Amino acid sequence: MLSVSEARQAILEQVQPAPSVTLPLSAAQGLVLSHSVTSTVNSPPYHKALMDGFAVRSEDVQTSSGQDGAPAEIQLVVQEEITAGDWPKLALSEGVAARIMTGAPLPDGADSVVMLEQSTQGPASAGRPSVLLTLPKFRPGQNVLRLGEVMKVGETILSPGTPITPSVIGLLAELGQAEVSVAQPPTVTALSTGNELVPFVAQPEAGQIRNSNGPMLAAQIRSAAAIPQELGIARDREDELRQAIERGLEAEILLLSGGVSAGDLDLVPGVLKSLGVREVFHKVKLKPGKPLWFGIAERQHQERQGAEGDRTLVFGLPGNPVSSFVCFELFVRPAINKRMGLREVLPASPRLPLAASFSHAGGRPAFLPGKRERSSGKDQVRVLAWLGSADLRGLAGADVLVQFPVEARDYKAGEEVPVLLLDNRP
Ligand code: AMP
Ligand code: MG
Repeated sequence: MLSVSEARQAILEQVQPAPSVTLPLSAAQGLVLSHSVTSTVNSPPYHKALMDGFAVRSEDVQTSSGQDGAPAEIQLVVQEEITAGDWPKLALSEGVAARIMTGAPLPDGADSVVMLEQSTQGPASAGRPSVLLTLPKFRPGQNVLRLGEVMKVGETILSPGTPITPSVIGLLAELGQAEVSVAQPPTVTALSTGNELVPFVAQPEAGQIRNSNGPMLAAQIRSAAAIPQELGIARDREDELRQAIERGLEAEILLLSGGVSAGDLDLVPGVLKSLGVREVFHKVKLKPGKPLWFGIAERQHQERQGAEGDRTLVFGLPGNPVSSFVCFELFVRPAINKRMGLREVLPASPRLPLAASFSHAGGRPAFLPGKRERSSGKDQVRVLAWLGSADLRGLAGADVLVQFPVEARDYKAGEEVPVLLLDNRP
């Protein structure tokens, strides 16, 4: 049986980054840049005031401090008022300042801004208003962002593999970039299998349960910025499975849930093989999630043959909801991440101290639902009480999976353990 990391490697070996497509910026959130981005602007486009106050020439205000060390008071004539959106009309000459607002361009000659709070109105001088500045500290260039200081035309500012987060969208908008090239997000089909399943909106009869995996997997697919396509439920009958799986194989990734264990009605691996899906592995040393099946289908469709990445990754996820969820996070998400061109395909896995002692039963490496907590300003993690692989209520409170190695052992409160962050996408 493969270990978690061997299984991951076997999966990731089969994944090629997707070809790129051009999308409107607003549709690119969560996807990954497939090209580098060069700045088309100087930012800021002019020397920009960062405070409301007075634009000044540093020569005019850099005087020695007054007697007994108190800051000197400097009087300057005020010649115009510049707000954001204006363009200054007059250059500053010696002894002259301009009233300026945050975001406005500095007039020629000015190099610094003195904040409003360090000013009072001065007496009129030759019929012109003046301002009195009291400066405990002054640094030439203060409160100004100089033209091109953030980025200059022609500079490379983003590299391929960058995730398109809200702040990256802001940056691209500053460049006026209406469209971006991204790795095409994969379509992922999800088929739930089991005689006992009814659609989640239906009322189960005796012996039946609702299909919770379908909507949950669709949500996980969406959270990985891929495109979910739910195929509904197939009963544990070869003909029905075969028909539904054939439809599912049209996507780049097919997820099946249920029917991959050792029960009489666990028909999925057999049907997959009969459809020509090549098994890469079946079963992983893992709890929950041991029955995971993974294989590769070369696509049948004539028009697609020979095209790049022309194959379907097929995951047979265990039917128990928590197992299905964990297998998605450990194996499917990294495959989607690689397909989408992310540089870091594996989820972040920092170490955190345990909030309470925990007895790990051992047998298999475990990934158990846990919750981060803060205690005296420090992060720690609590393993949640849960009743095993069918306990979605326990899982729903989790924001991490706490990782324990194969050995049975009592862990003390405060011992550090690796945790897999569940909300790992930017
Ligand atoms: P299986 O892997 O088919 O042996 O199923 C294992 C357990 O998971 C059984 O108790 C199933 O009823 C349950 N199960 C399977 N598929 C689903 C599903 N789509 N939603 C909720 N529970 C499921
Ligand atoms: Mg079943």
